[in-house]
Amino acid sequence: MKILICDAFDPSLPAKLARFGEVTEDVSRLGEADVALVRSKTKCTAEWMEKAPNLKLIIRGGVGLDNIDLKAAEARGIQVRNTPEASSVAVAELAMALLLALANPLIQGHLGMKEGKWLKKELKRRELFGKTLGLLGIGRIGNEVARRAAAFGMKIEAYDPYVEKHDLVKLVSLEEMVSAADFISLHVPLTDQTRGMVNADLISRMKDGVGIVNTCRGGVIDEEAVASALESGKIGGYATDVWLSDPPDPSSPILKAPNTVMLPHIGASTKENLLRIGEIIERILEEFAGK
Ligand code: NAD
Repeated sequence: MKILICDAFDPSLPAKLARFGEVTEDVSRLGEADVALVRSKTKCTAEWMEKAPNLKLIIRGGVGLDNIDLKAAEARGIQVRNTPEASSVAVAELAMALLLALANPLIQGHLGMKEGKWLKKELKRRELFGKTLGLLGIGRIGNEVARRAAAFGMKIEAYDPYVEKHDLVKLVSLEEMVSAADFISLHVPLTDQTRGMVNADLISRMKDGVGIVNTCRGGVIDEEAVASALESGKIGGYATDVWLSDPPDPSSPILKAPNTVMLPHIGASTKENLLRIGEIIERILEEFAGK
C-alpha cells in the first residue's frame, strides 16, 4: 500500500505507518497513492482526485470534511474517514484561551511592556465569573467548552436544534441565546445552514459589547458585518482561529478591525492531539488493510 502524507502531522507518523507499506510526504507522487492523509490545507477537489487514479481512501486528520468533495469521492469509490473524536480537548482549550484573552487584555499589556509602556491604568479587565456564555452548537467541542466554562462560574446557554436535552447547559432558541450572552463561542460545522450565520441581523440582536470567539470555521461569520460591528463597538471583541481561507485574503476586513485576537488556525495543532490523530489513523489503516 502506498500512503501519501499531504499535510502536517506529528513527525513520528511516517515511521509509525511504515508497517502498512511505503510512506511518502512527496505530494508530487499523488498519482501513485492508495491512501492520502490530509488535514485542512489540502483541498480534495474532483480535480485533485483525477490526479490520483489509485486512490481508495482519504483520511482527514481532524473534524470538518468541508475541504473534501464528498460527492466526487463517492462517485470515484474513494472512502473518506476522519478522526472527529481526537481534537475536542485541543480546540476547547484554545476556545477558553481566546475567551480569557477577550476578558483580559493580555496582548495589549504584553506589547506595552515590550515598548516600555506601563499601561496599568489604561488596561481594563473583565471577569468571566457570573457572565453568560452562549454556545452556537453543542457537539463534541461545545461540550468540552461548556465543562470548562462551568468551572469558571459562567452560566451557559446553548442553541443547537439537533440536541434535545443537556445536563449542564440550558438549551434555548437562537434568539434567546444571542440576547442573553455576554460572550458567544461558535462550535458549528460549516454547512449551507451555518454559512454566514453571524450576520448583521443576528449581531443586532446581541448584547452591546458582546465578545465572540470563533474556533469553528471562518465562513460561519459574515466578515463585513463583524468588522463593522467591531468598528461601532456593538461587538466588544472578536477572537478567532479560523478564516475564510488559510491564510486569509489580505483584504479581509477582520485583519484591520479593532479589538481582535487573531490566530493562524492552530486549534487542532497540539502535540497531544497530533499523536491522538496518528493513533486513530493507525486503527483506520488496520481496518482498511484487513479488508
Ligand atoms: P460536532 O459535530 O460534534 O458538533 C457540531 C454541533 O453543531 C452538533 O451538535 C450539531 O447539532 C450542531 N449544529 C449543526 N448545525 C447547526 C446549526 N445550524 N445551528 C446550531 N447548531 C448546529 O463537531 P465538533 O467536533 O464539536 O466540531 C465543530 C466544528 O469545529 C467542526 O465542524 C470544525 O469545523 C471545527 N473545528 C475547528 C478546529 C480548529 O482547528 N479550529 C478543529 C476541529 C474542529
